[in-house]
Amino acid sequence: MRIEVYTLFPASFGWFREQRHVRNALELGHALEAVDLRATTPLTAGQVDDTPYGGGAGMVVRVDVVEAALRARWGEDPLERRGARRVLALSAGGRRFDDALADELAKEDEVALLCGRYEGLDERVHEHLATDTVSIGPYVLAGGELAAMVVCDAVLRKLPGVLGHPDSALEESFSRALGGAPEYPHYTRPASWRGHGVPEVLVSGDHARVRSWRLEQSHRRRRDGGEGD
Ligand code: SAH
Repeated sequence: MRIEVYTLFPASFGWFREQRHVRNALELGHALEAVDLRATTPLTAGQVDDTPYGGGAGMVVRVDVVEAALRARWGEDPLERRGARRVLALSAGGRRFDDALADELAKEDEVALLCGRYEGLDERVHEHLATDTVSIGPYVLAGGELAAMVVCDAVLRKLPGVLGHPDSALEESFSRALGGAPEYPHYTRPASWRGHGVPEVLVSGDHARVRSWRLEQSHRRRRDGGEGD
């Protein structure tokens, strides 16, 4: 798949691109491109934002700046081709990002992410250029870049071959394999640490018991409102 992230801070994706699973995805032929919104602004002196109509604090990222970046990248009118690809505008008040949405996105060939800054994106970006408005949680970040990385991270690790072990992504917190519940607990060596052992069933060698213990733990975590790892 090809992911394009439109941002005023493309350099912030340098670290993310170096992560092992992201590198794996790139080596497999997937693409992750950070596109600089400032590079194609139609305004003078690199201007990308403006004061809000109606007054108030802060600056708003302009819709014509976002349009110009999409047009330059796609070589077509982003309004006419709306819906041809998934375009997610990141916003604190948007649809909550979850595992089901990550699954949906992992099936797409092309996804574009639009990062706001300052007070956010002009509402017409959401209304006319984006197909989805997505939030990573009920709190406010300074910009959409970290949110975009969260989305990319969750989506890329679902692509076949990206994680070291092919089964790693199948049975995880919120996956269908666990009925949407948090994952069960994991333990590794040492078997005893400062007087704290590991559940006996896990060292019993009885795979059927291990399986049912894990499912029960997963269900219990959901019941207790646990978050998983
Ligand atoms: N005035 C806005 C906050 C703007 S924060 C409000 O009250 O909702 C600046 C940018 O950071 C936003 O445009 C968005 O792209 C990004 N952002 C902030 N919090 C986010 C969140 N929880 N999820 C996704 N993006 C977020």
